[in-house]
Amino acid sequence: MAKVSIPTIKLNNGIEFPALGYGTWLGLNDKMEFEITDARKLQDALSYAIDIGYRHIDTAHLYRVEPEVGEVINKKIKDGVVKREDIFVTTKVWHHHHKQADVEVAVRDCLRRLNLEYVDLVLVHWPMSISQEGVDENIDYLETWRGFEEVLKKGLTRSIGVSNFNIEQMKRLLANCNVPPAVNQIEVNTINLNLGQKELVDYCQSKGVVVVAYSPFGTMVPSRNYPDSPEPKMDNPTMLSIAKKHGKTVTQIALRYLYQRGIVSIPKTVTKSRVLENASIFDFQLDDEDVATLAQFDNGFRTIRPLFWQPYENYPFDVVLGQEHEDIPISLLKWKNGVNGDIE
Ligand code: NDP
Repeated sequence: MAKVSIPTIKLNNGIEFPALGYGTWLGLNDKMEFEITDARKLQDALSYAIDIGYRHIDTAHLYRVEPEVGEVINKKIKDGVVKREDIFVTTKVWHHHHKQADVEVAVRDCLRRLNLEYVDLVLVHWPMSISQEGVDENIDYLETWRGFEEVLKKGLTRSIGVSNFNIEQMKRLLANCNVPPAVNQIEVNTINLNLGQKELVDYCQSKGVVVVAYSPFGTMVPSRNYPDSPEPKMDNPTMLSIAKKHGKTVTQIALRYLYQRGIVSIPKTVTKSRVLENASIFDFQLDDEDVATLAQFDNGFRTIRPLFWQPYENYPFDVVLGQEHEDIPISLLKWKNGVNGDIE
């Protein structure tokens, strides 16, 4: 069987963090419902990923696959493929658990679903606090963070971090915490790197906060070719020529570019050949000219831009005027009523 060797990056708490992980968000379909029918494929692909050398898995309460992810991890431990301490597991706390006292309940629920005694990293998924009914709870993320510091102290997780925090939110959090976040997980990608993201990445890195890139392919891959998504795509001649020069694929160039910026990426795929492809990026180097060429693709387009959260306090992105009142999809609300798959 093929094997990959994935290097690690040290977090600000001294813990080694694999520089590439396996993403487990199966996404929403056209009706904005969860696509958990792919969960079996996800388990097969994740099992293969661990077999070939992946040691970092990114999941979340939101994704509704924590039980399936935990089942695979526990099987690999039972079969002697890995030890628990070899695997780095990240999960995330959702919007409706932002009260300080709710954080521990939420993290213990994640552990129960994952069937693990601890996780390696738990993230504040977004800085907004929204009830299951869609009401803005206006809970300061500094309060949420105090709950995170408590679960760290209790050993439920080895590290704590944030996701989707903008630069002002990062500055405020760093100025008012006892334990600094180990990571900020944000959208960064090669083809449509957001203009503000360079500043945010540079700021986080200057403060010792590791940046984790979600949606590392942006809208490059066919599954993300929205009607308004910008060029270039996977058949872009410039991308193809850089890929050809290194004997690699366009997607490998995208992931390598992030790695060379000191960014950890967590591509998601349920396709085994791509599991191997995505992690086979540690045996070549992009040169200065390649990096400069890739940097020119920046165009400010966000793949993940949840307009329906725009009116909420602490929404971290620029507001697109005229589109503030889109309804939140029902699948992102009312988690406990079983309508959208009961994940409690
Ligand atoms: P990705 O950029 O990882 O893209 C996933 C898509 O790319 C899938 O359709 C997959 O298809 C396809 N793909 C993967 N590898 C290749 C390849 N080598 N060649 C061609 N196509 C490929 O997007 P995600 O949005 O899934 O982001 C990755 C992870 O980041 C998520 O799974 C999740 O863990 C995390 N995330 C976190 C967020 C946050 O708010 N913190 C937000 C969004 C994501 P297929 O599976 O069919 O192979």
